[in-house]
Amino acid sequence: MLQSGCRRIVVKVGTSTLTHSGGGADLRHMDLLARTLSDLRSAGHEIILVSSGAIGIGVGRLNMEARPVILREKQAVAAVGQCELMHLYDKFFSEYGQTVGQILLTSDDVDDPRRAENLRATFDTLLQLGVVPVVNENDSVSHAEIETGHHKVLGDNDTLSAIVAVFCRADLLVLLSDIDGLYDANPSTHPEARRIPLVSEITPELMAMADGKGRWGTGGMSTKLAAAREAMAGGVEMVIANGADPTCLYDILDGKDVGTRFVVK
Ligand code: ADP
Repeated sequence: MLQSGCRRIVVKVGTSTLTHSGGGADLRHMDLLARTLSDLRSAGHEIILVSSGAIGIGVGRLNMEARPVILREKQAVAAVGQCELMHLYDKFFSEYGQTVGQILLTSDDVDDPRRAENLRATFDTLLQLGVVPVVNENDSVSHAEIETGHHKVLGDNDTLSAIVAVFCRADLLVLLSDIDGLYDANPSTHPEARRIPLVSEITPELMAMADGKGRWGTGGMSTKLAAAREAMAGGVEMVIANGADPTCLYDILDGKDVGTRFVVK
């Protein structure tokens, strides 16, 4: 039986949850994530996983000392990391009786009406087949798009996950991050900061509370708020919660006070 009215759930997981600080996959966390999502699948939920981590995992796989900064190196490392990422998801989800399928996206895929229609049909079919689609931005292509300026890019997986959630008419979007939710100031610089449990509108004051970049120089809280705005505008509720314990998803579905919930009016 479903734990809530949330049948279709998009879960986005950040690099900091999936990888160790020096790069390389955090197998314990990936396993726990796969187990929790598999359990929710078995309970009747439809799950779409938007996963970062390709570059971080590629860094570990290639034994690199630091994360690459040059564009073509990033793309090459992402190409290696994405394989490893899918291999690990395939392994963990299979152990819990679930099947995954990979979808790599650029913004054209959702912007162009014909491609969008195709893509929606693919998502619907995968979900009907009981598959867990694992979505990532097509890093090896997308950054090239930034350079050539030919295409608008999705930019980061927070925004991507909101686009996917609205696009797939999800009931809920959960962003699993390295922090318990949105705070009234950045807790890494303001230890006295307090968690905000509920948000019903993204105001300029709220945007001002989110500063800086994340640990990997990507995303950060501002892109999560941009994602919340996108999701709410599309009628999808969103929760930011800590990915250190993916079992928090059970409490989120039970409506408990976990993380920051962005409600749709
Ligand atoms: P992930 O990669 O897990 O998605 P990010 O590193 O992109 O996470 O974003 C989370 C980080 O955003 C936090 O660890 C924190 O350093 C930073 N941050 C900035 N402003 C805030 C805020 N107001 N509340 C919470 N976190 C914030």
